[in-house]
Amino acid sequence: MSKKKSMLFNPQAFDGAEYDQKSSRMMKDTIAFFERKGLKAIRAENDKKLWQDDWMKYQRDKQIFATALTAEGYGDGDARFDLYRLCPMSEILGFYGFAYQYPLQVSILGVSPIWMGNNEEQKKELAEQLKEGHVFAFGMSEKEHGADLYSNACTISPTDEGCYVANGNKYYIGNAHIAPKVATMGKNSKTGEWAFWVVDSRHRNYKYVKDIVCEDIGQARVGEYEMVEYPLTDRDILKQGDEAFADGLSSVNIGKFQLGFCSCGIVAHAFFEAVTHANRRIIYGKPVTNFPHIRAFLSEAFCRINAMKLYALRSRDYFRVMSEEDRRYLIFNPIQKMKVCTEGGAVMNLLMDVVCAKGYENDTYISDARSTVDYLYRLEGTAHVNLALVLKFMRNYFFGLVSYAEIGIVSEQKDDANIFKQRIGGLAKVKFPDYKKAYEDIALPNVKIFLSQVESFRSLLAEDPPPEHLLKNMDYMLNYGEIFTMIVYAQLVLESAKLNDVADGLLDQIFALFIKDTGKYALAQLNTQNNSEVQARWLQAIALTAPVVDKEKDDLFWKEYVASQDGAYVMTDSVIG
Ligand SMILES: Cc1cc2nc3c(=O)[nH]c(=O)nc-3n(C[C@H](O)[C@H](O)[C@H](O)COP(=O)(O)OP(=O)(O)OC[C@H]3O[C@@H](n4cnc5c(N)ncnc54)[C@H](O)[C@@H]3O)c2cc1C
Repeated sequence: MSKKKSMLFNPQAFDGAEYDQKSSRMMKDTIAFFERKGLKAIRAENDKKLWQDDWMKYQRDKQIFATALTAEGYGDGDARFDLYRLCPMSEILGFYGFAYQYPLQVSILGVSPIWMGNNEEQKKELAEQLKEGHVFAFGMSEKEHGADLYSNACTISPTDEGCYVANGNKYYIGNAHIAPKVATMGKNSKTGEWAFWVVDSRHRNYKYVKDIVCEDIGQARVGEYEMVEYPLTDRDILKQGDEAFADGLSSVNIGKFQLGFCSCGIVAHAFFEAVTHANRRIIYGKPVTNFPHIRAFLSEAFCRINAMKLYALRSRDYFRVMSEEDRRYLIFNPIQKMKVCTEGGAVMNLLMDVVCAKGYENDTYISDARSTVDYLYRLEGTAHVNLALVLKFMRNYFFGLVSYAEIGIVSEQKDDANIFKQRIGGLAKVKFPDYKKAYEDIALPNVKIFLSQVESFRSLLAEDPPPEHLLKNMDYMLNYGEIFTMIVYAQLVLESAKLNDVADGLLDQIFALFIKDTGKYALAQLNTQNNSEVQARWLQAIALTAPVVDKEKDDLFWKEYVASQDGAYVMTDSVIG
């Protein structure tokens, strides 16, 4: 069989063969719903900010959320919490609009602390509500505190044996207008301990204060809610103590992991529109794609999307096998949230430069993608929070090597209950196998050149690492974080390319971009910080490393891989194509 020349999700080419029957049905049903609805109706409803009632009824009738979000044993035979099919659901929904993926993602966040807890009554009730077609919410953020979770001020106060009242406001909470279970994090006002509890948006002591109008997520809702002397009993409490806080972070880990797949879906659809539009639009008597720079932008966008998808797939493997002994996912997940999603932003910049005016017209999918793509990397307290996290693994990634059993594509049908048993802390103790293993047997020129940059960075860290007193200074560490992220990103892209049998021509082109990106970060560090002589020498080596420049090869790549995508997907009622 010939090697894959594209990893982009394309609904018109989707056969669902890699999934079991129920999962494949679920995805095909989703695709059928949106293709029937058509882009024109989606964009009109987005403009009017209409809540997506039709999709919600449809997913209820087809039991889509119930199948995908119910932990094994609590729902019907096929129900299980299985990332192998949940992640592509995020990709498919993102493909039709971020506003459709967001309620799923927030529901994942909302159900996670319930499945993590020991409250059987809550679990059974949740399973019933999923069957009834409800969505769920996750109340963590507060207006005054943002990313600073430690300052959360919502409380439960004990009133009697096993009884409490909840008070306080939560802000920027998706589905909060409608969810029958809003998993809420705060503190026990008496003990000062962390607590996770559940409130119902239909209860009279739950006040839905307002929609927070975020212009671009038309069919979805984000809101503010207030708990006013909201009565609770032990049956509404999920956990108290440090474990409650840990469950909050673990839920974020699961829910926001989906953002990477959603980004892949968003930019894939935007790419299909852009290449089709530009290749068919004639100006000065020739297609827009006759301009060499337009070809270069589209080729770059195509490579970036493929890399995003390859990374997302591989990080899912590591997440699905995570255990107390294998916690490597702790570095791969933040990179999924931060790097894959920011790459989505880079792709949209390129595509906007290709289509220009068309990209602002509300009728196009691109206009949706352009205005929502940056939500994905900003929503989680920005990329920098994750970058700071990633840096904690840097030493061990290069110098704390151990071996692990090989992991292939983790495609088995299983309930991923292991991801509900995460442990926080101990990040700097996570060990890694030798990253060079990923480079074995790959003779592609740009892959080899990139490895030389990796080795230069390793030498820098070995000979003259960033000084201790600057390790927490994110201005100084930013570019170290970016370079290191590139290295980990590239490793997983390589592993994924091998496992998914990706064509060499595509992989080499992707690594040409990686070399240039890494060089830019090294140059930024040279230009903005005080570096020692040794550091400056290695940074210069990285910055001055160039990929193979071969214009003929680029042109061939454009024709074979990119221009061939013209018309590969055109949505019903599309104004493009
Ligand atoms: C559309 C939308 C939907 C949302 N949905 C939900 C939801 O369903 N549930 C929910 O709980 N929340 C939700 N949120 C809230 C979201 O998680 C917050 O944006 C996030 O908590 C960060 O808060 P902030 O944006 O106010 O940034 P701030 O906390 O004000 O941070 C400002 C800046 O400080 C920097 N910074 C902060 N902390 C660090 C750090 N530790 N390291 C390095 N830099 C740092 C970052 O650069 C950041 O940009 C949503 C937000 C939006 C806009």
